[in-house]
Amino acid sequence: MELKFWGVRGSIPTPAPENLGFGGNTTCLELRLGNGEVVLIDGGTGARKLGLDLIQRAEGKSIDIDILMTHFHWDHIQGIPFFAPLYSPSNHVRFHTTKAASEAKNILEGQMTHPYFPVGFDLLAAKRDFSTLAGSPSHTLCNGGLKVYPFPLNHPQGASGYRLESNGAVIVHACDHEHGDPSLDHVIRTHSEGADVLVYDAQFTPEEYEIKKGWGHSTWLEGVKVAKDAGVKQLVLAHHDPSHTDEFLRAVLDSARQQFDQVIIAREGSSVIL
Ligand SMILES: [Zn+2]
Ligand SMILES: [Zn+2]
Repeated sequence: MELKFWGVRGSIPTPAPENLGFGGNTTCLELRLGNGEVVLIDGGTGARKLGLDLIQRAEGKSIDIDILMTHFHWDHIQGIPFFAPLYSPSNHVRFHTTKAASEAKNILEGQMTHPYFPVGFDLLAAKRDFSTLAGSPSHTLCNGGLKVYPFPLNHPQGASGYRLESNGAVIVHACDHEHGDPSLDHVIRTHSEGADVLVYDAQFTPEEYEIKKGWGHSTWLEGVKVAKDAGVKQLVLAHHDPSHTDEFLRAVLDSARQQFDQVIIAREGSSVIL
């Protein structure tokens, strides 16, 4: 399994020179399974470049993918209207969320209505399906290649984390989450148990968090605590704050490494191989 980061920024794209070492696009991850199938996590602005890459890799063949949506804040959906595979009738895109399928469809249609975007969601050529990942502890995608365990996160208007298992490897994605709710903090730990990789919301430093409580985001220090408690092998700090420059993020990494050896910072274009 390979997990590739196409967008690592939280809240809003930050295409400024001082941020481009780690990247300015918002959340979009690509999971390439051993069986060749592809699953996306979220459709932030990083999805634009990923869509072009998928078309190039397909070499004229049709594209058939699944997209796991964590929630529908702008930084997680804004790349979808620019996701080129949606514009070809031979492609098939399945959106999975923990919301009712009709609600998820309405939300994605909403960001493409007049006067926000020139092409309506209903006019996209690709076959689109919506499924709800709720009501049972796990769901199987990709012809049996991927097992998905959704879990709730503490975030304004809600968000979902995902534990993803394939061929014995485990990735957990827990972004757009604020620590501090005892029951949800416990849920994150149980779902992260023994994970090979935990991608965690590290938008704030512990100092910044003191004045940003209630904003729905966590810290690198809390990520380290979850990783240690759950026996995670590698922690990936993600959902970087728009104000955090490359220099700032390198200092965050230094602080985090003093507490936990196996930590990296998500960088646009980089991959984790499992
Ligand atoms: Zn976000
Ligand atoms: Zn959010």
